[in-house]
Amino acid sequence: MNGQRLAQKILVMCQLGHSLTELSEAVERQVGAVIFDPALMRVHAMGYNGPAAGENPVPARGNENHSGDTHAEVNALVKTNAPWLAPRSQIMYVTCAPCETCARYIVNFGAIGLVIYGADEYSKAEIGLRVLDRARIRTMQELVVVNAAKGMPHAQEHLIRAIRL
Ligand SMILES: [Zn+2]
Repeated sequence: MNGQRLAQKILVMCQLGHSLTELSEAVERQVGAVIFDPALMRVHAMGYNGPAAGENPVPARGNENHSGDTHAEVNALVKTNAPWLAPRSQIMYVTCAPCETCARYIVNFGAIGLVIYGADEYSKAEIGLRVLDRARIRTMQELVVVNAAKGMPHAQEHLIRAIRL
């Protein structure tokens, strides 16, 4: 698969993640996450942030990381059938960079080798990305995928390297 085709397929996963934000009942910010395989043929699980099943939406508290909502990454991780997946073999897309706590869940989950994250203002908080980096889980901005899909060679090379988990 060449870099442009690869990027086109990953962009579909990114679009799925963005669509999932529409289902979020979180008050302050809506986040979507998708866990998929590097061959881009299988979606393992999807998640969006919000209250636990059966709970009412949590009122705004002014701090999304401590909103009381379950984060999208965790909701996707708990629905993934991990025992079948090799360590560091799968990809997570999330519409923003993971927070510190979600990053630790991703590390301990074991099967995620690459996290691709979208850009919103919260993605400037890099503490979660540092947690992933220390655990040698690769991270990549969604913008790289967008640029690779547009045909930019440097972005395509970056993407191909990152996908080789
Ligand atoms: Zn989180």
